[in-house]
Amino acid sequence: MIADKMKSFVAGSSAIRAMFEEGKKMAAIYGAENVYDFSLGNPSLEPPAAVKEAVLKVLEETSPNELHGYPSNGGFEDVRLAIAQQQNRLHGTNYNEENIIMTVGAAAGLNIILKAILNPGDEVIVFAPFFGEYASYVANYDGVLVTVSPDIQTFQPNMDELEQKITKNTKALIINTPNNPTGVIYSEETLKTLSEILTKKEKEIGHPIYLISDEPYRELFYGDFKIPFVPDFYPNTIIAYSFSKSLSLPGERIGYVTIHSEADGFEELVSAMTVANRISGFVNAPTLWQKVVPYVMDTHVDVSVYKKNRDDLYAILQELGYPCVLGDGAFYLFPQSLIPDDKAFCNAAKEFRLLIVPGSSFGCPGHFRMAYCVDNATIHNAKESLKLLKEKYSK
Ligand code: PLP
Repeated sequence: MIADKMKSFVAGSSAIRAMFEEGKKMAAIYGAENVYDFSLGNPSLEPPAAVKEAVLKVLEETSPNELHGYPSNGGFEDVRLAIAQQQNRLHGTNYNEENIIMTVGAAAGLNIILKAILNPGDEVIVFAPFFGEYASYVANYDGVLVTVSPDIQTFQPNMDELEQKITKNTKALIINTPNNPTGVIYSEETLKTLSEILTKKEKEIGHPIYLISDEPYRELFYGDFKIPFVPDFYPNTIIAYSFSKSLSLPGERIGYVTIHSEADGFEELVSAMTVANRISGFVNAPTLWQKVVPYVMDTHVDVSVYKKNRDDLYAILQELGYPCVLGDGAFYLFPQSLIPDDKAFCNAAKEFRLLIVPGSSFGCPGHFRMAYCVDNATIHNAKESLKLLKEKYSK
């Protein structure tokens, strides 16, 4: 008999993964080129050539015992220091290896942060729409997920509702910019307002509110601007970062957590997260990939390919009459479904061999997500299916 808690996780198991599996079955029946699979955020670009070169170099030049043995649970010190120095260069911080913990991707990063800070019943606020796994991650530690409803005109955070939803039980707020599933990026102005609200509320409730910034899409943005560095606005920040998307390495499971030096209880946080890494069973992030990081951390995939995909898909959606906010980052668009029941809508899309994910999976019904990290041809070939789907609901 499995645990009751696990039963509810299994029952609510990711619709995105289910869709991905269904896509594989459909591809076997109709041929991969005749299935338009926009379901999973699995990068379509190959990792930059520098990644393979670095892997070979690390294999050649690191002693096998060091490379394949257990490192510290927080990761190799030289690797953490290299990342800290990169952050100092980029953001003028004063980090050293203490500020960085190597993790098994951002997913593990978020889990060790939550494990380190949550007591049962503690509330974690998220803005809808949000990456659906947050609900499970918070439940893992018996926290309570509190959602702030979306502003569907802009998908920027609804600040008034945030203020109302903060209670004495609030422990943290998770933000994700550039955002999955909307692609929206939070401006400096937005982060400033957010910080003012959190600072005011921390005083009112008499304890810290951590801002957890989930940043696997940090380098994926399309325009001539800078992604704001969140701790510049709110010092009580912990960042979960990952190389899954920036270097197209999601299966390798490598990322890190940054604990800002001015975060409340810095020393305790570092120790708690290091132990959490171990006792969650991650033990440490993969050693080969840790050692690769210093060679490739300033590199990323060619984002102009994703930009073209975004522009082409957005143009098609506009032409066909799907209302959609144009986000400037990540690799997702989040249009409105043409009927309120987004699940029925995404089911109907399968008739046209189109795989899209219901907005309900992100706490935002009435929408659907399209991951445009696909071949550009898939976007153009899917146009007819999107047209037929639209026609189905226009009759
Ligand atoms: N956070 C968000 C918003 C994501 O979209 C994802 C993956 O898609 C993750 C975290 C987990 O990423 P990782 O592969 O680094 O664990």
